[in-house]
This record gives sequence, C-alpha cells and structure tokens, in this order.
Amino acid sequence: MRERWRSGLVFVISTLLFVGIVLFAPGSETSALRRLLGLGGDPLGAPADVPPGGVYAFLEHQPGDEDAPVAWDPCREIRYEINPDGAPDGAGETEAFVADAVAEVSAVTGLRFEYGGRTDRRPRWSGAFVPMGGREPVLISWATESEVDQLEGDVAGLGGSAARSGNDGRLRFVTGGVTLDIESFDDLEDERDGEDYQRAILLHELGHLVGLDHVDSPAELMFADNVGQLGFGRGDLNGLVELGKGTCA
Ligand SMILES: [Zn+2]
Repeated sequence: MRERWRSGLVFVISTLLFVGIVLFAPGSETSALRRLLGLGGDPLGAPADVPPGGVYAFLEHQPGDEDAPVAWDPCREIRYEINPDGAPDGAGETEAFVADAVAEVSAVTGLRFEYGGRTDRRPRWSGAFVPMGGREPVLISWATESEVDQLEGDVAGLGGSAARSGNDGRLRFVTGGVTLDIESFDDLEDERDGEDYQRAILLHELGHLVGLDHVDSPAELMFADNVGQLGFGRGDLNGLVELGKGTCA
C-alpha cells in the first residue's frame, strides 16, 4: 500500500480553487483607525533567507504587472479558525497539527498568523466568497465530496484566498480557506508515513492560501500531484519568500 503513495498519482493535491476578486475600496479602514488598532506601518515579520533555485508560480498578479504577485498584507496578522469536525484526530491534536504547518509557512514568508479558535463554520467554495466589507478569518476544515463538490475523486485538499483592492489600488488577499478531504486523511491514517503525507497536503494547500500556484516540477511541493515530496522544495521556498514581501495597506 505504501508504494502506492510513493509511485504517485494516487491522489491529487489540488488546486486552487477560488480566487474571487472583489473590487472596492474599504471605506472604514482609514489610516487613523489602523494606527489606533496598532495595525500600521511596518511588516510584522521578515521572510527567511533561502537558497536560490527551483521553480514557482503565483496564483494571481497585480493588474498590469506580471512580476508582482497578489499577496497578503504583511502588516496584519492572518487570522484563522479551525473546524476540526471530520479530522482524523481529536480537536486538540488537530489544532497542533495545523499550528505546526502554519508555523512553517509563517517562518518562510514572515507572514504572521493568529489562531482565532474553533468554529462551526463550514467551507464555501462557490458563490460570493468575500462578503462585502468582510474579512472573515481563514477557515481550515475537513469535508467530504458530498458536501464540497471540488473534493470529488482523488482530490485530497483545496486551498485558496480571495483578494480585494485597497485604497492604493493594489490587490491583497483578505480571506481564504483550506479544506482537507476526510476520505484521503482517513486512508492515510493507516499508512506508514501517513502523517507525513497529511502534513504535506496541508502545507501544499497553505501554499495556495498564501498565493502559490502549481508548477510542473515534481521536485516542488506545489506540483499538482503528490509523488512523494513531503516538504517545500527550493522553488516553493523562493516563491513563499516573494509572497512575504507584499505591500502594507
Ligand atoms: Zn494544489
């Protein structure tokens, strides 16, 4: 059974799935309010130093600028919530599993994440994703293909974010989600190294969440199919570093 995973193509760790873009300027976010809330000015962290090389791609670019990715605002924390229903482990263990992967993405990008606790919210991968004016926390959840159509077949997870335009006209991600396939995670429970594969799926989807697209190289974790890559490759790391260099709103 284990070789099934090694030889690849058994499951697809998919794809982005939604990048909705809502174009409007958030009126309430004046700079004065931001300062009042302590949100102002400087990035909260700095991207890591990583060796050059590899390949990466971005999900979205700034309008008219192919070199500038859409990224999260590095001056504010990315709030996330977890709905542990359907995860193979108990809620506490699930939170630790997610926190560990989130910490890795944070360390590479310099983006700061803040855990907002457990939630009953369910994932929504169709329709209007960004409520007008809203900034819903990122939702990390588990679901079946009967609830979330996009998990049909061998898809082991979904990840993506939605952007909106700031007062300066730049697009920034404001909310997003990662949904993991209950069936795939349950199957991996019985595999040797299954937990490592579960973690790789989550890292891949978090890569989408912060703005990475798929690449053709199987040496990168952002390859669309998992063929045994368990951690970020060199190109993944370089792409994550670039996504940590977004501009502050
Ligand atoms: Zn993917």
